[in-house]
Amino acid sequence: MNVVDPTYESYSPGLVVLSVVIAVLASYTAFHAAGRLKASGPKHKAVWAMSGGLCLGGGIWSMHFIAMLALDMGMTVTYEPLLLILSIVFAVAASWLAFLILLFFKPRIPWHLLGAVFIGSGIVSMHYIGMAAMQMNAEIQYDPRLVALSVVIAYLASFTALRLLSVVPSIQKRLWKEIGFIGSSLLMGAAISGMHYTGMAGASFDHESAGVAMEGTAIHTELLSIFIGIGIMSMLIITTIVAVFNRQIEFKKDELNYIDDLYRGIIHTANDAIITSNMDMRIVSWNDAAERIFGHRQADIIGEPLSMIIPSAYQKRVEYFHQTGEEVESASLVELEGLHSDGWTFPLELSFSRQGAGTQKVYTGIIRDISERVKQNERIQELIYRDDLTRLPNRRMLNEHLTHMLEQLSQMNLAVLFVDLDRFKNVNDVYGHRIGDELLIIAAERMKKHLRETDFLARQSGDEFVIILPESTGYRAGNTAHSLVQVLNEPVTIEKNELFISASIGISVYPEDGETAEDLLKHADTAMYKAKSSGANQYFFFTADMDEEVSKKMLLETGLRKGIISEEFLLYYQPQVDVVSGEIKGYEALVRWRHPELGMVPPGEFIPLAEETGLIIPLGRWILQEACRQMAEWKKAGSTVTRMSVNISTLQFQQPDFLNMVMEILESTGLPPEYLEIELTESIVQNPEHSVPLMESIRAKGIRISLDDFGTGYSSLSYLKDFPLNTLKIDKSFMDNIEDGQREEAIVESIIHMAQRLGFNVIAEGIEKSSQLSLLSEKACQEYQGYYYSPPLPAEAMDEGGRLEKKYTS
Ligand code: C2E
Ligand code: MG
Ligand code: MG
Repeated sequence: MNVVDPTYESYSPGLVVLSVVIAVLASYTAFHAAGRLKASGPKHKAVWAMSGGLCLGGGIWSMHFIAMLALDMGMTVTYEPLLLILSIVFAVAASWLAFLILLFFKPRIPWHLLGAVFIGSGIVSMHYIGMAAMQMNAEIQYDPRLVALSVVIAYLASFTALRLLSVVPSIQKRLWKEIGFIGSSLLMGAAISGMHYTGMAGASFDHESAGVAMEGTAIHTELLSIFIGIGIMSMLIITTIVAVFNRQIEFKKDELNYIDDLYRGIIHTANDAIITSNMDMRIVSWNDAAERIFGHRQADIIGEPLSMIIPSAYQKRVEYFHQTGEEVESASLVELEGLHSDGWTFPLELSFSRQGAGTQKVYTGIIRDISERVKQNERIQELIYRDDLTRLPNRRMLNEHLTHMLEQLSQMNLAVLFVDLDRFKNVNDVYGHRIGDELLIIAAERMKKHLRETDFLARQSGDEFVIILPESTGYRAGNTAHSLVQVLNEPVTIEKNELFISASIGISVYPEDGETAEDLLKHADTAMYKAKSSGANQYFFFTADMDEEVSKKMLLETGLRKGIISEEFLLYYQPQVDVVSGEIKGYEALVRWRHPELGMVPPGEFIPLAEETGLIIPLGRWILQEACRQMAEWKKAGSTVTRMSVNISTLQFQQPDFLNMVMEILESTGLPPEYLEIELTESIVQNPEHSVPLMESIRAKGIRISLDDFGTGYSSLSYLKDFPLNTLKIDKSFMDNIEDGQREEAIVESIIHMAQRLGFNVIAEGIEKSSQLSLLSEKACQEYQGYYYSPPLPAEAMDEGGRLEKKYTS
């Protein structure tokens, strides 16, 4: 029986401990390398799997031979070099394969099992090849049960080690992570050394049937020690390298973590919404600003479709961005609208970027709420393009709009309506600008109500409005103008004042009346002017001959100022005659302009112009001066005529120094105040708060006051009692129809009666026929004025005492 003498085989405890330590240390280093480098790219993974394999394989191999050195068998043992090399190759290759699996595949049980099979097989095969490499004077015999147990230990312990290793990355705490590493290294160390010592326990050495040591090619224990030394040295070197890399990676990772945190912080505190969406157009990230801008909380919106934050009108566009990535390429800023959680939309600016590739692609949108900016732009637009008072488009916008429209439509029709309120200046003068403004607003509203959605209404300036009627023929333009004249003619009540306004409208039609905005506007203006000068409160279409009239207006305007300087003005006088006796009681001074080119220009044509330009002030002063001078002269010559009537325009009457001016003139001409009668029109006395006290002071000075053109203006009979008048002049328009109109006759009769009850002298204007005169005498009217007796005549037509030699009739 060849029994192994136990005294031959004894273990050196120091070397045993060293062998186990090496097994654990090698595992630790290899695992660290594998674990840490998992994050590196595929190319690096293979390299690092190789280093892990070398480390673990080297560890397995070194552990085995140190353990063999620890065993004193009481005989010389050498090793067969080829098998020795083969054992290293097996250990390293198996470990390397195992690491490849671990690094490239997901941490699942089947892969761990396969990894454990490789490592276990590496340990077992290394061990038995190493045993087979032994050359000594003894034969090895194995106990199959212990051999089987050693194999089981190798596989089982490796598997457990790998399982434990797989959970390490998910551990958050560093200390526990380290403990996890150490634990799995201990388990792997146990797999290696446990297999070895169990295997050795199952091996017995039969000294008698010894094989022959082959001195020549054998490797002696001393040499083996050198190999082991080299193995451990290289393991230590690898350990150091890994440790250094570890530190660097650790450092990098810390830095990355830090940068990651920093980015997260920046993203969350950013002023702009930063939103990431995946290829399914679902939201995957959402910062604080997004919460603020869109109103959705992060927890509610993550995973929701983008349609939650984009109004349906823009969804197609955003879908398109996702499909094409076009906006990413062009890096352009897109303006669209966002949908707030409360349901309202708001303007936003979006810049798009794309990260990742394939199905992993995500889009990041940086979104800025531009409501404020849009509002500000609108405000600027408003300032530039809108009229402050009516909020209507202003002249600038009108011109741009009309020009633009004309560029767009080359064949279509279009009409331009130029609307001007009649006598608006009077309203402003009499009631003040506040009421004037209010009136403009009301007029604008009335027109707007009456127009179609597509029509364009602008305020040109002052009381001028322009309407563009797209796709309109002259027929529609005429109809529209007709109804506008009507709606504007309805009385307006502002602050208890009932105002009667009207408008004159001029129409030009594209392309007949002009092809440019400038021509169309100019011609509509001309037609408006014509409508106004032909009696107002009506509309006129532009015709070519109107242009001539307008140029005449221009001529007048420039001539007026010159005329005052070069004394082209003169006064005519029309007698005011007693109905019963036919005696001349007074004269009305009527201004005439002898224009060097146009000849005699009637006051109806230049007085409104003089009022518009303010020239009525110096002109009116001259008229008053001249009329008083003439009257004083006649008086001096012993005239029986005791009254000079002078027309006063609104603007003159509004002058603060009006009464002073009149008194100065009376003084300088030496005319007693009671000889002067000033003629005011109804529009002047419309504002009783101002006019009544002034009229009273005028009366207090002895000057007479008459109310001219009574019945054409605004005032009703009931107002009359408040005015300190001397004379009431019934307008010519009543006289024109007095013979054939029952109504006119009744009106004139009641005016005369009421005026007389109030103690006013009544003068009927525009008497042209004897029949009119007899009617007046029937109605007991005191005086009349008219062509029947005499037209206005120059002073030369009278004698020095202001008497008419003969009665003139027209
Ligand atoms: P008014 O004050 O009502 O003057 C009467 C107008 O009627 C005068 O026109 C006169 O020529 C005209 N007239 C008189 N009798 C008859 C008649 O029988 N038949 C017809 N068809 N007309 C008659 P005129 O001189 O052209 O003046 C027109 C208006 O111009 C005046 O109306 C007055 O409002 C204004 N005006 C005239 N002179 C002055 C002036 O010196 N200062 C101011 N502020 N306005 C003036
Ligand atoms: Mg008059
Ligand atoms: Mg009159």
